[in-house]
Amino acid sequence: MTASPVTASSAPASSVSGLARPTVDALRAKILHHLEYTLAKDAGHSSRYDWRMATSFAIRDEMLKPWFAATRQTYDTGAKRVYYLSMEFLIGRLLEDAMINLGLHETIAAALAAEGQTLSDIIEDEPDAALGNGGLGRLAACFLESMATVGVPAHGYGIRYEHGLFRQRFEGGQQVETPEDWLSQPHPWEFARPEAAYIVGFKGHSELRRGKSVWVPGETVKASAYDTPVVGWQGKWASTLRLWAGLPTTQFDLERFNNGDYTAAAAPEALARTLSRVLYPDDTTPAGKELRLKQEYFMTSAALQDILRRYQSQFSTLADLPKHVAIQLNDTHPAIAGPELMRLLMDQHDMGWDEAQTVARATLGYTNHTLLPEALERWSTYLMGSVLPRHMEIIQRIDEDHAKAHKRPPSVGIVQHNEVKMGDLAFIMSHKVNGVSALHSELVKETVFHDLHKLHPDRITNETNGVTPRRWMRLSNPALSTLLDETIGEGWTRDLDHLKTLEPFAQDAAFREKFAAAKRANKVALAGWVQDTMGIDINPDAMFDIQIKRLHEYKRQLLNCFETIALWHNMRQTPDAGWTPRVKFFGGKSAPGYFVAKEIIHLINDVARTINADPVTGHLLKVVYPPNYNVSMAQRLIPAADLSEQISTAGKEASGTGNMKLTLNGALTIGTLDGANVEIRDLVGADNFFLFGLTADGVEKRRKNINHAREAIEDSQNLRDVLQMIVEGRFSPEEPDRYHGLVDRAWHHDHYLVAADFDSYWEAQRAADALYRTPQDWNRKAILNVARSGFFSSDRTIRGYMADIWDVPSALKD
Ligand SMILES: *Cc1c(COP(=O)(O)O)cnc(C)c1O
Repeated sequence: MTASPVTASSAPASSVSGLARPTVDALRAKILHHLEYTLAKDAGHSSRYDWRMATSFAIRDEMLKPWFAATRQTYDTGAKRVYYLSMEFLIGRLLEDAMINLGLHETIAAALAAEGQTLSDIIEDEPDAALGNGGLGRLAACFLESMATVGVPAHGYGIRYEHGLFRQRFEGGQQVETPEDWLSQPHPWEFARPEAAYIVGFKGHSELRRGKSVWVPGETVKASAYDTPVVGWQGKWASTLRLWAGLPTTQFDLERFNNGDYTAAAAPEALARTLSRVLYPDDTTPAGKELRLKQEYFMTSAALQDILRRYQSQFSTLADLPKHVAIQLNDTHPAIAGPELMRLLMDQHDMGWDEAQTVARATLGYTNHTLLPEALERWSTYLMGSVLPRHMEIIQRIDEDHAKAHKRPPSVGIVQHNEVKMGDLAFIMSHKVNGVSALHSELVKETVFHDLHKLHPDRITNETNGVTPRRWMRLSNPALSTLLDETIGEGWTRDLDHLKTLEPFAQDAAFREKFAAAKRANKVALAGWVQDTMGIDINPDAMFDIQIKRLHEYKRQLLNCFETIALWHNMRQTPDAGWTPRVKFFGGKSAPGYFVAKEIIHLINDVARTINADPVTGHLLKVVYPPNYNVSMAQRLIPAADLSEQISTAGKEASGTGNMKLTLNGALTIGTLDGANVEIRDLVGADNFFLFGLTADGVEKRRKNINHAREAIEDSQNLRDVLQMIVEGRFSPEEPDRYHGLVDRAWHHDHYLVAADFDSYWEAQRAADALYRTPQDWNRKAILNVARSGFFSSDRTIRGYMADIWDVPSALKD
């Protein structure tokens, strides 16, 4: 490849205040340097992978300065640190995010262009780091970036899974899982820290030595650290993601190997590596498996040992730990942190029981993410006692202490019916417990922690989730970002509340046109991708109606699928009735063992196949379900969305964050009063939101009528037609009875009230159709949605945790 010379007239480096600005020439030289000296490649014979790695290393070099500066300042000032413990970090691609936050996007594009390389191709070459299932893991990733932007001295702790969330393919419309192997290529963003390694034990027994309990583990593994820097907006601060990999503690058994016993020689290694081998592909049902408990303890113990080691390198008295350290538990997955922190303080640092408990509680905070009773982790006392015998003792004594200190009803207790309830453990061992949306936090008080809330009325608080505007607007939606910059200035990127100043422009016809043009450009780009990857021809002027999220019955993709069928059926009967053309997008994975969700995927794909082949409705309706929904696909779909489907059964979705991304990007929501939809609707205004369905209270009442589904179906001609078409095999002619089970459940076991909400949903959809036919009105409302979505920045969420839970100030001056 011949390189064109870079001259003085080459694109100037874009500037970021407070950061040294490398020029195009400097970055070009850096990339070539890494190509030659890090990758040992000749520029003329380099693959896209080589260019990506060299570019990533060049960018990574630029991350080190803010990373070092933040680390040094935190040590020098003795600032309080935040540790975010999470079994999942759904971070996605990092190259473009880092470039944008460092203000180097244009500079890198120019440097690569000078070498005949296209930045967008290089960006697309990076695999998604999919170390999470969905919303919970993505929230952790947004938090790391927001903490780096707001100026929180922070570490995220997690597991360096060799295999992240599985890849999804469709075969005959059915989900097929294949392993994800993001680490099959070197990961350019991480630094191995073999010097940061800790021994983690399992099993064995606990014994008394000179009046002190001592755990003698039967198995041990080593947790070894890998660090990834996360740089905030404009490189003013940085946080660290520290992920643990499992290694054997024993030396390799050369004698066995030499005697030909290769399997036995490799056994300790295999055992240790299993801990960081795979992500459990479901965060909504407890695995109940020994390996999962071991993974949770492995991550938590390594993190706490690391936290105490760092603390002791700076401070002397462990009693002051909560003054300098705040530890946040992302769901109950790291809830063993309570007993583990106490164990470390007592057994290894000679602290007494009462003080250890006080210190642990003042340090820990717990975020609850679900009300689904089946999703609350419980471990049999047998398993807990055998895998973590010392912790089982501590848990029992925490429970006894709590029983003594409070007049609690018999329903309260960490250990009950031979199970350890991890939610109760996390609650009792934390000084603050938070829900993730206003509605959810209230329901937490009324349902899962009803009794504990009565005993500790000041403990539960709310921190409504948010999303980072850097990734979810500036990176993913350059068309709208540029328009916002031109219209209200760039300040929104750091302070999303600036979007408020956009409000008057909703009345400005010229602005509305520009806004519509940005949306249309995003839709044209998405239509091109759909054509290229799926061979489906879609009309960018149709309404793009998008439901993207994990497949779960409570999220009710089935309701959307039924409505799609009803719409198609109605369109076929009266094709000339002035229908609003639509493209229905679905995206999402089912847990591999979740039979009902997989059947829904199959049905959606069968429906898509049937509808997309219909010449009568071809210009009116298409159904698109691209496989393998992930962060990068979300970034592609969200900027092109007109309608955001947030249709969960009220009372079931804790918050949602997809709903926030879509609102921010100018989609109107059709949704129930569930999770953060409630706050979205309050903020954007009821007139600018398509509301339907039962409320959380209404759902509870409706369920008391055991015939709720049958009565709703009998009352709805539309829904009866839909179920009839499915039963007749209209969408599965090769196997007409394929969905008999599904239809039977719709009639008799409709736990999520699809039938009860169907007609209301249908009406709301037709209201959306009508509005879409008046683009001026639609666009005005879409602009108001953007202008009023500033609250949903994860920067605001992080500031809430800082003030209400962590008691940590920003380390930044402004
Ligand atoms: C935001 C996001 C989610 C969460 O979506 P919800 O609609 O809130 O469930 C899940 N997966 C990915 C890849 C995301 O980006």
